[in-house]
Amino acid sequence: MVQSSVLGFPRMGANRDLKKATEAYWSGKIDQAALIKTGQTLRAAHWKLQKDAGADIIASNDFAFYDQVLDHIQMFNAVPERYRKYGLNALDEYFAMGRGLQRPATKTSPDVDVTALEMVKWFDSNYHYVRPTLQDDQKFELSAEPKPVREFLEAKAQGITTRPVILGPVSFLHLGKPDRGASVDPITLLDSLLPVYEQLLIKLAEAGAESVQIDEPVLVLDLPQKTKDAFAPAYAKFAALGSKIPQITFATYFGDIVHNLALVPKTVAAVHVDLVRAPEQLEQVIAILGAEQSLSAGVVNGRNIWKTDFSKAIEIVQKAIQALGAERVVVATSSSLLHTPHTLASEKNLGEVADWFSFAAEKAKEVAILAKAVTSGPESVKAELEANAASIKARATSSRTNDAAVKERQSKITPDMYNRKSAFPERIAAQQAHLNLPLFPTTTIGSFPQTKEIRVARQKFTKGEITAAEYEKFIEKEIDYVVKQQEELDLDVLVHGEPERNDMVQYFGERLNGYVFTTHAWVQSYGSRCVRPPIIVGDISRPAPMTVKESKYAASITSRPMKGMLTGPITCLRWSFPRDDVHQSVQAEQLALALRDEVIDLEAAGVKVIQVDEPALREGLPLRSGAEREAYLKWAVESFRLATVGVNNETQIHSHFCYSEFQDFFHAIAALDADVLSIENSKSDSKLLKVFEDEAYPRHIGPGVYDIHSPRIPSEEEIRVRIEEMLPYIKPETLWIDPDCGLKTRQWPETIAALKNMVAAAKYFRAKY
Ligand code: GLN
Ligand code: ZN
Repeated sequence: MVQSSVLGFPRMGANRDLKKATEAYWSGKIDQAALIKTGQTLRAAHWKLQKDAGADIIASNDFAFYDQVLDHIQMFNAVPERYRKYGLNALDEYFAMGRGLQRPATKTSPDVDVTALEMVKWFDSNYHYVRPTLQDDQKFELSAEPKPVREFLEAKAQGITTRPVILGPVSFLHLGKPDRGASVDPITLLDSLLPVYEQLLIKLAEAGAESVQIDEPVLVLDLPQKTKDAFAPAYAKFAALGSKIPQITFATYFGDIVHNLALVPKTVAAVHVDLVRAPEQLEQVIAILGAEQSLSAGVVNGRNIWKTDFSKAIEIVQKAIQALGAERVVVATSSSLLHTPHTLASEKNLGEVADWFSFAAEKAKEVAILAKAVTSGPESVKAELEANAASIKARATSSRTNDAAVKERQSKITPDMYNRKSAFPERIAAQQAHLNLPLFPTTTIGSFPQTKEIRVARQKFTKGEITAAEYEKFIEKEIDYVVKQQEELDLDVLVHGEPERNDMVQYFGERLNGYVFTTHAWVQSYGSRCVRPPIIVGDISRPAPMTVKESKYAASITSRPMKGMLTGPITCLRWSFPRDDVHQSVQAEQLALALRDEVIDLEAAGVKVIQVDEPALREGLPLRSGAEREAYLKWAVESFRLATVGVNNETQIHSHFCYSEFQDFFHAIAALDADVLSIENSKSDSKLLKVFEDEAYPRHIGPGVYDIHSPRIPSEEEIRVRIEEMLPYIKPETLWIDPDCGLKTRQWPETIAALKNMVAAAKYFRAKY
């Protein structure tokens, strides 16, 4: 019999219940017992839901109050002393590591002031994990009541035997880093970490767990030899424990493991691979399995929201069954469903397209149906297979999916559509002739504070409580205010402040054909933060200008240059749920054509500086270097150019990135050919800017002189020091002075104070040079 398996379930609940409870706890509205209770209730509901869906293998320990890697940090007692020293209770210590803690002294406890541990993107997803931060003399110790054991028993009490999931030792260490001041190479800590895993596995077996899922997702990466060498000793140790520990399913996801097949332990009971992302690895993985080993075939996508094409999935699973026999094959989700929204049942406004989607709850049913289809034959799930085929067909042939006019336009793209009319030196001269900017020009990244009034007005407009004309008036008043503030600050290139935008991707999605929106499809991004990505369902086109009205208005009320503000094609793509039926490069190209028209319309409306933000360019980088990464960079750069090069020489194109680690793909950044780049270097080492010098980058750069993620006001002196640090790498005549990102999350008073100091610092250098 072929079993079905879900590798992990989203934690938030149907209505972001976990988010609400944790935030209520943080703000003191509920106590710890109430929060813990919410966790229990959610876990119980999610296990039951999967059980009712018919899933055979259900994960436990996939829940976390903040992040699953942070759970391991605490469970292994790898808590840096700066958190431990306060003697906080376990949950508060956990949150302190996740999000920092600042608390004034009380009668019974001293004041607490500690920043969070580093948070990093989980592979190429938009989920962020808390990075293990390790010491030179790091010791590990298993917590008294390890969470995986506790949650296994909790499910068991509910009558559900789960398969606990833990992050494997090699991944835990490889994803970690030395603490500041320490120099330890995390992987060298393997020997001291393994006993803790052994104890944990033994405890799980004692609690009754028959199998355990050990995630080693780092296997999909290019690994240094030291990390590769860690797999064999680690899994040999586990194998030596024989029946004292549960059977191991060794899980990888988000890519193929063909380049690391030799590292897959021969001793584990099953190997899980992601056959959605990398179906072509199937044969090679099968070939290395020992006679006793099973395959967990990840055929239901854990990263996207599309209904699984059953006929295709069955074909893959059948191949595995032919090679291994039904007893040795499991039908599984490709990864944890953490990256998908809770349930489609919450969506009431999707109309006919609702039938194209499958969220976490529906995916749990899909694995069960697939397992039944291959175990008992297609007749046993005839109705489900027919409905699925009909839905897949409806989507493929829908007029919402296919737009002949868009395809026609794509087929007519010519090589000259990727190039500006002239090279940079000629362009910058033309731009300077009419922009007339001083040395060290000042600007901001686009948004100004999104105040409560703005959100209230937008809500009223969405609910129909105010008319479009009233809303428009309100936005104009906001723009008036933002422009006036900038003039008073004496900034050089102004922005309209983006008050009309709810979100930099959603705003554009709502104005483009080819997108749909959900009401409840939240996905955890980090901690309690969730995002609700729009969904690209069909060919994308722009029915009408999207931003021209606001930018044109803003330009009309000032004599200073006004910068138009757009979200780039890659960011629109990456921060949405993309289609899975056409390549992402095709979707990026469609977005680029729509944005190209917008850029040209802005120029025609008199907006002669246009910024196209691409903060997501880097996260789209394929996980491994080589051909795939180069191919991505090629189409990503092409889409940016297609979007931006349609303008005349005197129109200045800016772009913005929320990071400054360009070292491994600098050629792509240079190839964007943007006249001005603004980046995030305020918290990073100025030495990162050296690459601009080394590569003789000729165009203008605004590295970001202060951190907008904090309400702290930087002094003029501090900003001067920052600029001074940049000058060895960036020529004064190409250096722009700006904050390191948009100001939308800030309050007005701190914004004005910080920008005042920034402008003063720019003027200081202007006088000096
Ligand atoms: N223009 C956007 C803003 O200022 C850029 C945001 C971003 O880089 N994430 O809000
Ligand atoms: Zn940014």
